[in-house]
Amino acid sequence: MKLDLRKIYRFDPIVCAAGDALPKGGDVYYECGSCKDVVSSVSFIAASCSCGNLNGGDGSTAIKTPDQVTPLRGKLK
Ligand SMILES: [Zn+2]
Repeated sequence: MKLDLRKIYRFDPIVCAAGDALPKGGDVYYECGSCKDVVSSVSFIAASCSCGNLNGGDGSTAIKTPDQVTPLRGKLK
């Protein structure tokens, strides 16, 4: 079963300059621009978005196409 993080968190986009490395942290999440799934930037459980652009696990998340990813700050609702 897929965990829908949007049900538990409120997400606000993080503004960062083009070319900067994407932020990461316990409250930072990545939204995939292709499939709109949200994956934690420091996922300790295996997690990936539907199209496979984001692949998390073991405390980090690999991004195939960073241009397609929006960093978000998540706050518990
Ligand atoms: Zn995706």
